[in-house]
Amino acid sequence: MHIPFINLAQQYQNHREIHQAILSALSTFQFCKGEEVDKFENAFCELLRCNHCISTGNGTDSLFIALKALGIKKDDEVITPAFSWISTSETISLCGARPVFADIDPITYTIDPVAIEKKISPQTKAIIVVHLYGQAAHISAIKEICNKNKLFLIEDCAQAHLTQEYGKNVGTLGDVGTFSFYPTKNLGAYGDAGCMVTNNSVLAERFKRIANHGALKKDDHTMEGLNSRMDTLQAAILLAKLPFLTVWNSKRWNNAQLYNSLLKDIESITLPYERPDTIHTFHLYAIRTKNRDKLKAYLERKNIETAIHYPCALPNLPVYDYLNHSPSDFPVATAFQNETLSLPIYAELTAQQITYIGHSIKSFMSQN
Ligand SMILES: *Cc1c(COP(=O)(O)O)cnc(C)c1O
Repeated sequence: MHIPFINLAQQYQNHREIHQAILSALSTFQFCKGEEVDKFENAFCELLRCNHCISTGNGTDSLFIALKALGIKKDDEVITPAFSWISTSETISLCGARPVFADIDPITYTIDPVAIEKKISPQTKAIIVVHLYGQAAHISAIKEICNKNKLFLIEDCAQAHLTQEYGKNVGTLGDVGTFSFYPTKNLGAYGDAGCMVTNNSVLAERFKRIANHGALKKDDHTMEGLNSRMDTLQAAILLAKLPFLTVWNSKRWNNAQLYNSLLKDIESITLPYERPDTIHTFHLYAIRTKNRDKLKAYLERKNIETAIHYPCALPNLPVYDYLNHSPSDFPVATAFQNETLSLPIYAELTAQQITYIGHSIKSFMSQN
């Protein structure tokens, strides 16, 4: 048995409607700003129960556009988790501002509200939270901190399509939610794509302008912006996939429960935690163990692909040497970078495959 970490071919084979959507979008020869783009924005709004969805070229652009639209500039500070993909911090620097890292909660692996409060300074303008691995960050608590200190709240939902806290979709709780539809995300295009959601119509218009050279319609440039559009073909693919997102997410959740039951008795492994009153969408199923590298190599020999998200906490990356941090400033993120291991979790995975992975991990642990 060979188990890949991602299996996009299987999803495509199971859903002929994706192929049909590509052919029908192609037949219009309207590759940019086709009607599928508007349709997708409307459908995504409806699904998330929010007022505005603005499509973009990718999730990183969504973050950059959000920060620009909120006026983040030189000498401003934006607080962001020490453990995430680099998009969350690089977009802050691209605005000329300074990323201020806060450590993560050792149980949920999302940004720790207590660590946030310690990092607030007179220069702080915004907080970016990341709903990491599909787990909702402590968004209500962080929203209170933002209200109290008059800070903008940006939710990076690249790993959290339809994740909820108290029955509300993440992305709709702060000033803006940013999404990525990179092919391997829970909702993935066949190339780069992204979007932003908000309930604020003034911000929505600004996002739309910045993503389209500062114009809402032809030759209406009231500011400078970028070219960050979602292709018509990508929108058509996402529209075809959107009706299945809830089912795919629940299959991921069921897969997680099966892993939990197979691995629960292994003391040297910490299983993912699910916050009460939330819906976890398991973009990733990350276990934690001190023997991570040996376990990963063992699973490779068993033909099981795994991945590490991420092998280096953001403040420990060479690019942030200039901030003069030491790894001990972020003890939780630094320990986690050496211990986290993502197991395959996609909807198409079978119970037989998960059982094989579970048994392989057990056999490794009994020998080590
Ligand atoms: C994937 C991802 C992004 C960036 O999305 P792209 O579409 O690849 O630019 C941003 N933040 C997080 C947490 C991600 O996982």
